[in-house]
Amino acid sequence: MEKTLSIIKPDGVSRGLIGNILQRFERSGFKIVAMKMIRMNKRQAQGFYAVHKEKPFFDSLTDFMSSGPCVVMILERENAISRNREIMGATNYKEAAEGTIRKDYATDIEKNVVHGSDSPETATFEINYFFNQLEITGE
Ligand code: GDP
Repeated sequence: MEKTLSIIKPDGVSRGLIGNILQRFERSGFKIVAMKMIRMNKRQAQGFYAVHKEKPFFDSLTDFMSSGPCVVMILERENAISRNREIMGATNYKEAAEGTIRKDYATDIEKNVVHGSDSPETATFEINYFFNQLEITGE
């Protein structure tokens, strides 16, 4: 069993998409083994996206991610990281496959509704960024 970190970004929360997105994960065989609603401040968003600190969109992205509440969760299943990336769709919603979350709901390359870890290393970093051992219920 593999774990991955998923975030419903502020646009997904404010547009009332939490239930829809959780249902997609559950119907795709994921177990939600930890979940909470948080609101990051700018510094916390910068820490989460530190790998992108040299990118031209870093300031805008961290403003967006700290603009409202997010739902953060740990998803578990076989090949959780790659399966979640498939369900999410491409970063740019215009390139996302039919039926993916970003194809269905994203409005912008930045406001693309969901985040998902992209490797085992980032999954470990991201899970530990938001959750302590007490909060993780999976095997
Ligand atoms: P992801 O792994 O699919 O989320 O994509 P990346 O790790 O490449 O980028 C992280 C996040 O930064 C994306 O999900 C978008 O919210 C945002 N982002 C990526 N590329 C751009 C861009 O060219 N412009 C802006 N404004 N935001 C971007």
